[in-house]
This record gives sequence, structure tokens and C-alpha cells, in this order.
Amino acid sequence: MNLLLFSLFREKKRRRVVELTEKMVVDGGNGHTCDFFERSGPFTHPDFEPSTESLQFMLETCKILVIGAGGLGCELLKDLALSGFRNIHVVDMDTIDVSNLNRQFLFRPKDVGRSKAEVAADFINSRIPGCCVVPHYTKIQDLDETFYRQFHIIVCGLDSVVARRWMNGMLLSLLVYEDGVLDPGSIIPLIDGGTEGFKGNARVILPGMTACIDCTLELYPPQINFPMCTIASMPRLPEHCIEYVRMLLWPKETPFGDGVALDGDDPEQIQWVYQRSLERAAEFNITGVTYRLTQGVVKRIIPAVASTNAVIAAACATEVFKIASSAYIPLNNYMVFNDVDGLYTYTFEAERKENCSACSQVPLDLRFAPSSKLQEVLDYLTESASLQMKSPAITATVEGKNKTLYLQSVASIEQRTRPNLSKTLKELGLTDGQELAVADVTTPQTMLFRLCFTS
Ligand SMILES: [Zn+2]
Repeated sequence: MNLLLFSLFREKKRRRVVELTEKMVVDGGNGHTCDFFERSGPFTHPDFEPSTESLQFMLETCKILVIGAGGLGCELLKDLALSGFRNIHVVDMDTIDVSNLNRQFLFRPKDVGRSKAEVAADFINSRIPGCCVVPHYTKIQDLDETFYRQFHIIVCGLDSVVARRWMNGMLLSLLVYEDGVLDPGSIIPLIDGGTEGFKGNARVILPGMTACIDCTLELYPPQINFPMCTIASMPRLPEHCIEYVRMLLWPKETPFGDGVALDGDDPEQIQWVYQRSLERAAEFNITGVTYRLTQGVVKRIIPAVASTNAVIAAACATEVFKIASSAYIPLNNYMVFNDVDGLYTYTFEAERKENCSACSQVPLDLRFAPSSKLQEVLDYLTESASLQMKSPAITATVEGKNKTLYLQSVASIEQRTRPNLSKTLKELGLTDGQELAVADVTTPQTMLFRLCFTS
């Protein structure tokens, strides 16, 4: 298309958006969004009452928090801002990398190295009049309860299960119970989107009422692992050969020194793994080992697909709209999307887990023999599919004193408490029915467990 014509067309379109937005504000909205709120229909929410207030709420009052300004985050911000939401905050700790530019469309080559949250906010604010996106270039863990409490709805577009669980834990910690009854005013709905290649999911979580992230933790496999026998003796795929080098050759040959962990960002180390993987592949007549694939397997990179992000973000933004306007019944509560082969979607109601470690409010039982070692408890906390902790710190009250049994994150304390790992629970002075407090990066709250001795 003629370049000049194209830019004129674009300018015209932009002006139309401005006009529509201004119209919605100036005359209280005779635009189509307002009509939408002023009449009922066969599919509206049973509690929906046609009025002009819903639009006012959406435009003036409703405050949305978007977590993540990456692939999903860019889509979410665009969708929400164009839906009419104007008070939006966005949190992201990352800076823009050149590899983001193919799908994170709020960023340009000149933005590489800058904060994702800040650039995304600037872009939306300059493009959509009346919209005010406030960026937070920081970790979600650095913001506190008072910050999170100010929002009406929170949308997550994250690629990390740990961050998702932390956010889930934060919203659970904001719940207020009076005589055991949940105060609905303390609930902040969490809309969670996730994508992995051609697969994605969108879910609506009402903390304390519906299934939370930890209730369905078993749905997140810890990692894609190939069976060891395949890797060791029957490789069929190029990935098997790379895994063989990563898991078996690297610790055996220690090419970069004893105890040096493989660093997926070190080109020399990846080159070493690549060369050895090629040799392994040649032995079994397997083709397809490349440097890129090697790095992908080592860093466990799953290619991001722009269209999946677009679908999932659109579903999430629609849920935000439904909840903010009460115009329609929200998704109940878990939608999966997959277009690896054809196109498939399915919605089901994920159920709350009675003994969910995050939302059940009952201390979980840890069943161990008095002769079990503390190491076994630690292994259980990290390996159990329903807990999947990362670096749990365990404390207990022993003989009236609060005692740290093991803590990994501070080197000096780790060193001091490491000998406890090989001691038995009995030797540590722990008793049957004892409470153990466990802190972990997956939750902002300390979790309580009850130690139940088995014989
Ligand atoms: Zn739960």
C-alpha cells in the first residue's frame, strides 16, 4: 500500500478512536458501550440492572492491576484500555530484550534495555486518550498489602508459577473472616492467564470462594522430564541427546571445573554441550541437534506464540469486563485452549481442594516417623506435587524457644543449620503434634504444618 495513504488511513482511524472515547466521557456516553449498559438482554447476569452507573464505575472508579508487561501483559493492557478501563497499574521487574519485539508490540527497537512496565504504560497513555496506566518497575514481592488492597480486580499475565502462587497467597492473605465467615468485601478477583507455545489457559479465581492456584497445583507439571532410561540408553529425539549431556556428562566430566553448574547464558558452556550432543546423536543416527535447540533444552525455553497470547489475553480482558460491569456471569472457572492440532477449547469448574495448603485455613499434617531425618521433610516439601516449594525455611518452637531448623536463603544460617538435615526429628527435640512453620518464596505467608509421628 502507498505509504502516505497508509499513514493517512491510520491517522483517520486514530482520530475516530479519540472521538469515540471523548464522546463516551463528554456526554455521559451515547456511544455503543453505554447502550450496552442501559438495556438488559437474554444473556445478561441475573443480578444485572440496566443503568448508566456501570459505565461510570468502569471509567472513573474501577482500578485494575496487570501483573506482567510481557507477551500477555502487552495484549492485556491494550485490550483493557480499549475496553474503556482507565485506571490501570502494571507491575513488571523485567527490561526489554530484542527477542521480545516480535510479539510484545508496545515496544520498539529504541526501547531495548528499558523497563517493560514503564515503556508499556507510556505507549498506552500516549495512544489512548483518557487512559492512565501507572507503571511499577519492581518485583511483585516488593509491593505490600496496602498496595494490592487498592485494586478491584487483578489480572496475571505471568510465565512463572512461583510468582503466580505468591500473588495467589497475597490475595488470600487479604481476606477478612468474621467468626469464620468470609467477608465478601475483602475478595479481590484474580484473573489468571497462562500460555505455553500453542497452549493456553484463562481462569477466574475468587480467593476464598473458588479453587485457587495452589488447589490445582498438580495441573502444573514441575518440569517436562524424559524418562532416565530413554536418556541413558534409548534416545529417539535430539532433545534426549542434549538431556543426556546435560544430566549425565556434565556432572561426570565437569568441563568447567568441579561443582560448576551449567549456565544456559554462557555461550562457551552451551557450545560444549552442543558438541557433545552432536556426538551422542551421531551414535544413534539422530538428526536435528542445533545450537539453538541445545540452548532451548538447557534453559527450558518454550517458544512463545503471539496468537496464543492474543487469545488468552482477550479471554482474560473479557472476564475483567464481565466482573467489573456485572453484565454477564463470569467464566466458571477454568478455560483451556489448544491449537497444536486443529483448534480446541474446553471449560471446566476446577474444584477447591479441602486441604489446600494455601486457602484451606487448616494446618496440614506432615506424617513422619520420629526416626526420619529433617532432610526427608525438606525433600517432601519440595517434591510433593501439591506443595512444590522451592527453598523452604523450617522453624519450630522447641522447649519454649523459637528455633530455625533449616534455612537456605542466607549463606551463614544455611551453614549453621545444615547439620540439622542429617539429624532425626527426635534428635531435634520435635514432638508428636508439634507445629512447624515453613516460609518459602511461593507464598508471602508462613505456612503452618502439624507434625504427626507415625510408628
Ligand atoms: Zn487453594
